[in-house]
Amino acid sequence: MSTVYIALGSNLEPRRQYMQQAVLHMQQIGKVLNVAPLYESEPYGFTEQPRFLNSAVCLETDWQPLPLLNQLKQIETTVGRITRQRWGPREIDLDIIFYDDLVLQTEHLTIPHPDYRNRCFVLQPLADIAPEFIPPDATQSLQELARKCRKTNHLTRIQSNWVAA
Ligand code: AMP
Repeated sequence: MSTVYIALGSNLEPRRQYMQQAVLHMQQIGKVLNVAPLYESEPYGFTEQPRFLNSAVCLETDWQPLPLLNQLKQIETTVGRITRQRWGPREIDLDIIFYDDLVLQTEHLTIPHPDYRNRCFVLQPLADIAPEFIPPDATQSLQELARKCRKTNHLTRIQSNWVAA
């Protein structure tokens, strides 16, 4: 069994519904141990697009990293993601941020996720569910990393319990 942290994002309506469905589908590939609150954030990278909803999930799973990525892509498709430009709007985006203490760099998968440290909308939800976790490529806990990024990035907390039981 591995403990995996997955970031979720959506900026096309119905955003919350896409996010909820993604979490429900994740229950098929492991045990969802924790779901972070829901946040709203300004778009990152390509900024001329709608605001994002973001959250994160802690999943206990037997799936190995690459098959897990494929499962998550399958969930994205099932939930309704349509392929568009990279960085552009999306119905749902699921990224593997951490997989136990694994450090992995392959053509299709990099763990920890390459840009998590710069993304407050990833760090803050993760810090809510795993404040003491020190990523394998860091020396500070998620709580400390999130505190730093909050100084430069604005994030709005929308709701705590947003996935129906
Ligand atoms: P996007 O859906 O636009 O965020 O891009 C996803 C692509 O990034 C996937 O097709 C993966 O091959 C690649 N990728 C690399 N590392 C990761 C990761 N840690 N989690 C999810 N996708 C990743």
